[in-house]
Amino acid sequence: MLSAVLSKKTCAECRFCCSFRRKSLWETPLLSEEFMKMHTVSVNGEPVAYRNYSDKGLIYGQTDLTKFYKTDDPEEEVTCPFLDPEKGCSLPEDEKPFDCKIWPLRYMRMPERDCKVCLTPTCPAINKIDVSVMEDLVRNGLGDKIREYADTHPYIIKDYRDGFIVLER
Ligand code: SF4
Repeated sequence: MLSAVLSKKTCAECRFCCSFRRKSLWETPLLSEEFMKMHTVSVNGEPVAYRNYSDKGLIYGQTDLTKFYKTDDPEEEVTCPFLDPEKGCSLPEDEKPFDCKIWPLRYMRMPERDCKVCLTPTCPAINKIDVSVMEDLVRNGLGDKIREYADTHPYIIKDYRDGFIVLER
């Protein structure tokens, strides 16, 4: 979805967004019920469980990475169990979680309660691009696609956090 500004090669070499600090576990991709039924995954032979949530009758979840941390350090990183260290994400493009498809964009509920497409401030590649390019991308169709998905999968909406760049006026 972001191929106009982010090449597969750049992402494959970086993988920043496929590693999760203990303190950033909230950013672990949100997964549909269908995804969790379809995919089982393990790390070093140990199965990875899913945390399940429910919102207005809709089941969704996240991988539960907590047991893979070796320390209590909030900065310690654990990689996504779907990340192949050699090849990058092991999932076919059409099976990737929506959160991953739109990274580093996020659809966020603002303090005023309306929702806007925002930019995660930490993506090393997008940080090199002028914000106006991302604003144009969102204005010219990507924002509508995100909203359309959020209409049927409202759990992808995250509460706004300080530091995220609001791309819509
Ligand atoms: S599902 Fe794939 S793209 Fe998403 S965080 Fe995991 S490895 Fe990265």
